[in-house]
This record gives sequence, structure tokens and C-alpha cells, in this order.
Amino acid sequence: MSLLQTDRLITDIDTDAGRVRPVDAISLSIERGQTLALVGESGCGKSMAALSIMRLLPQNGRVSAGRVLLQGVDTTALPEARMRDVRGRRIGMVFQEPATSLNPVLTVGRQVVEVMERHTAVRGMAAQVQALEWLHRVGLPEAERQQHSYPFQLSGGQKQRVMLAMALAAAPDVLIADEPTTALDVSIQAQMLQLLQELQSSLHMAVLLITHDLAVVSQMAHQVALMYAGQIIETASAADFFSRPLHPYAAALFAALPDQRQRGQALRAIAGAVPTLDQVFTACRFAPRCAYAHAACVAAPPALLQQGPEHAVRCVLYAPGAAPVVMPRPLTLAPQAPVATGPNEPATARPSALLEVRDLRVGFPIRHGLLQRTRGHVQAVDGVSFALARGRTLALVGESGSGKTTVARALLQLLRGVARVEGTVQLQGQSLNRLQGEALRLARRAVQIVFQDPFASLNPRMRVSDLLQEGVAALCPEVDAAGRLQRVRGLLERVGLRADALQRYPHEFSGGQRQRLAIARALAVQPQLIVADEPTSALDVSVQAQILNLLRELQQERSLSYLLITHNFSVVAYLADDVAVMQNGKIVEAGTVQAVLRNPQHAYTKTLLAAVPALMATGPLP
Ligand code: SF4
Repeated sequence: MSLLQTDRLITDIDTDAGRVRPVDAISLSIERGQTLALVGESGCGKSMAALSIMRLLPQNGRVSAGRVLLQGVDTTALPEARMRDVRGRRIGMVFQEPATSLNPVLTVGRQVVEVMERHTAVRGMAAQVQALEWLHRVGLPEAERQQHSYPFQLSGGQKQRVMLAMALAAAPDVLIADEPTTALDVSIQAQMLQLLQELQSSLHMAVLLITHDLAVVSQMAHQVALMYAGQIIETASAADFFSRPLHPYAAALFAALPDQRQRGQALRAIAGAVPTLDQVFTACRFAPRCAYAHAACVAAPPALLQQGPEHAVRCVLYAPGAAPVVMPRPLTLAPQAPVATGPNEPATARPSALLEVRDLRVGFPIRHGLLQRTRGHVQAVDGVSFALARGRTLALVGESGSGKTTVARALLQLLRGVARVEGTVQLQGQSLNRLQGEALRLARRAVQIVFQDPFASLNPRMRVSDLLQEGVAALCPEVDAAGRLQRVRGLLERVGLRADALQRYPHEFSGGQRQRLAIARALAVQPQLIVADEPTSALDVSVQAQILNLLRELQQERSLSYLLITHNFSVVAYLADDVAVMQNGKIVEAGTVQAVLRNPQHAYTKTLLAAVPALMATGPLP
């Protein structure tokens, strides 16, 4: 008997527009000591499946059919009082966003104690001692001191560790981890994944890992279930899934991953989007996006077909009697793999610098007392120098807190009056530090920024037309109203959005479309340099490929320079020409992508690269 099993589980959400079915007859099973990865794009129903198992659905949601069996007991039939014991005691859960999952008015130590007192027989002082042990065990630094901290006083990685301590404090049989490392940088991610593996083997837990990161899956999972539009469309052992993906969607996801061998070429993005789940499907749900679609695919929804003892796929290509088909094999993401000669040129052939940063230092004031007097400065950036030529991309990489974003804010002149900024920032030979008023405003036209979170970076109350024209009106006074409209219409088309988008609001767009809007907004003032701060880290693999293709094309068309801030080395390997590695406010290594990724010299760069999860080796590359 499996430890946790879902048996044709169906979840419905009632909305004003009708019924939505995010989970449609999914059957999964996880054994003790095993990790099952549930993989797929946003909107495929992964998180809803987890919430259905936990019976934590929103008020308008319900499990309409099927069962969730925990050691043979159907938890969908348990009264809520008994289910409260199952949650936390038998099944622990770690959510993607620890900031919103922790109670902001309780210390983190108290929150772990509460879990222990709620779900175990341990009370009082003993619970406090054990809670502290758990905080140590999950690697919270200075746990004795930090247990008295409130969530806002901890970093993202520290909060994620506290969430893990809370999920594990009652030693559950099953841990559900929903995108547990998405918000973390590579080294913290590597620590968290290692910790999860260690705890799983010492506690002999079953883990349901929900993620869209295929490299994390390959490192962690024993079994893989691929989800699309509410259904499971492929299940396999992890080894089988990575060496022999069967479903065209699996192959398309692998093909969309950025890789250094694809430098200078378009990534194979998956066209279209996941269908809405408010419809009754009469054909294969992937058919509108599938390169292999044919008449049989729209005749009826395909069934899940067994293709070996542990491998099943929902696709007519594998029906009995169908002609054999071989899906392309995934490339590995290993940064040590041979680097193709891409558009990088030798340093001597580079054009003169568009942006030159010399000895940049940024110190944030430490204030004390009633009068908030400055008692010193925290040096966030400490003597950073680099140059960026026209038409090239420089990636600034490093862990959270290494100073990457502070460098970007300083060169955008956004820290005036906030921090002590020293050094020089020159754009086309003109020093930005000394500019004031009108001259600064005009200089700002040349440098624009695209933020990580396309949801937070667009004003939700403004129509797209106003959002895109706002910058032109403020920074390009020579362009009249008709010219502005003409410009933003052209840009919308260029970034792949329809003209009717102009009258819509940001919430009406998907994450990828919003990032296209953010890029169009940056381009509207015809900049020469775009600072792209983690521009794809909030996006799915397929949408990431579309945005990276767009950035690459725009750079070629307009000779744009990019300062790319990221912790994703695959994106660096694909898009950047040069890399600067930052640690504690300093650049510790810099060079061309080939040199730094293939032959890192500094110990910190080596550690960062070693922390990058790589897809399993899959034999000879296609
Ligand atoms: Fe593609 Fe047809 Fe298979 Fe669906 S059933 S994945 S459309 S080949």
C-alpha cells in the first residue's frame, strides 16, 4: 500500500463565469522515503492538487470526486476536526512564499513551538528546546538569537528554513513542498535541496515536490508526474523521464530551456498558452500547441497509455499500432559542457564603452536614537568597476545581498538622498553623478529598467496605453500626442501583443504578457541601455524562452546594451557576453561568459557554479 495516494481526484472551483476544473481525475502515489515531483507550467493545476490533498481549498472550491488515501484512509471523508490533526501531524506543507505564510506578529521560534504543541505531546519548555533544535537542524544561522526574531527580520532563505522547521516539527509522514526554492538564489537553493534530502532520508518521509524547475526535479525526484491543464499526461521514474521523455509537451519543455549551445539562436519557445479550465475538453488538451498534432488528436481526449512498468503517457502517438516516434533528448544544463562559439568577440575587438562605472561605492546609513542620527554606514557596494559596450550584455551575478541590485539602482541615480554614493558612472562619456534637473531627466531616457516581477511593476490602475505613453510624455517632450500613440502601437506589435491591448489593464494579462508590456514600456523612450533585473525568474520555462528570444532580437535590431542581473546561470550562458561575479559588494571575478563559466578562477564563482542544479546526463546529445 502506498503511503499517500490520490485516486481519480477531481477538484472544482465555482466562479461567477461558471465551473473551473483545475484538477481532473489525477491519480498519484508516493512511497515512504521517495520524492514524487509534480511538474508543469503555471495554471496547470499543480498547487490546486496539493491544496486538495491538504483540504485547504478556497471557499468556492471543493473536491467533487475521487479519494485521497493516507495509508489506506480516505482523508476526503474525514470530519474537519480530524483533518486538522492530519495537517501538520501527518502531512506537512512548505509554501512557495514564506513571507505570506508566516504569522507576522509572532516570533519564528514561537511559531515552531505552536506546531509542536498542536500536533505532539511535547509542551512548554520541552517544546521550546525541541523547536530550537529544529531551527538548528534546518540550518537557521544563529538560531538561539534568531528564534526571537519576527519574520520581517529574516531573509527569504531564512524564512524558508523556518517554514521547513514548522512543516517538519511534528515529524510528518508526508511533506508537500510547493516551489520551495523558486524565490531563492542558487547557493541557498542548493543548501535547501540538500537539507530536504538529508531530512527525508533521516525521517523516511514521502515528499511531494511541486516545481516547474526541471533541473531541481532531476536532482531531487525518484518519480515524476507531468501535469498539463489539470491532467497527468506523463508519469515515469525520474531516470526514464529525463532519458526518454515521451509526451510532446515534455520534449517541448526541455527544448525551451536556455543553454549555452543555443547562443545566437532562437530558443524553441512553446507557442500559445495553457488552455482555460472552464471548458469541457473533447480533444487532446495540448493539441493547439503540439507540433505532432493530427486528426486522431482532436477526435477524442487521449487516454493514459502504459509504456513500461513505470512509464505512462497520455498521447495518441503511443497508441497500439501507431508508428514509433522518438522525442528529442534533453540537453544537459551542466555549465562545464563545451561552449559553442557564439556572438562573443575577443576583448580587443570590442567597441568603446557605452557605460563605464568606476570605483562605485554605496553605503546605507545606520541610524540610531530618537533623532535617527547617522552612526555609520553599511557598505553595500564596495569599489565596483566595469564597462559595458554598445550592443553587448553584461551579466551581474551573485547571491542575494551581494549588491547587484544596489549597483543597478546607483547607476540609475535612484539612490540620491537615500545612500552615500561615491565613484563615477559615465554614459557615453557623460558623468551621470553630477547631472541635475533637466539634464538628469534627459540622461534617464538612455537607461531604462525591466523588473523581476511583472505583476508588481505595472500600475494596476492605468490602462496599457497610459502606462506605455507615461514615460514618453515625461522624458521625450519633442514627441506630440499623435507621435506617442503611434510609437506605443508599433512597440506593442513588436513585443507580440495585439493593438486592442492598449485599452486593457495589467491584470488582464498573463505573467509573460506583462513582462512584454514592461519591455515595451522601457523601449518607449528609445533607451540605449536596459537594466534587466531577473527579467525571467518569475516566468515558466516556455514563457522564459519567449522573453529571452524577444530580448535577443531587440538587442540585434536596436544595438541595445543589457545589464542583466540574475542568479540563473542558464540565462547567463544563453544571453550574456560578459559576466561579473559579485560577493559582499565587490566584483570578485569578471570576464567573457566562456571564460568565467568554463574556467572559473575564484573560489566563490566555483561554489556558485557548483550549486547550480544540472539536468541528468542523458547520454550522447542530439
Ligand atoms: Fe500532440 Fe496528439 Fe499527442 Fe496530443 S495526442 S500530445 S496533440 S500528438
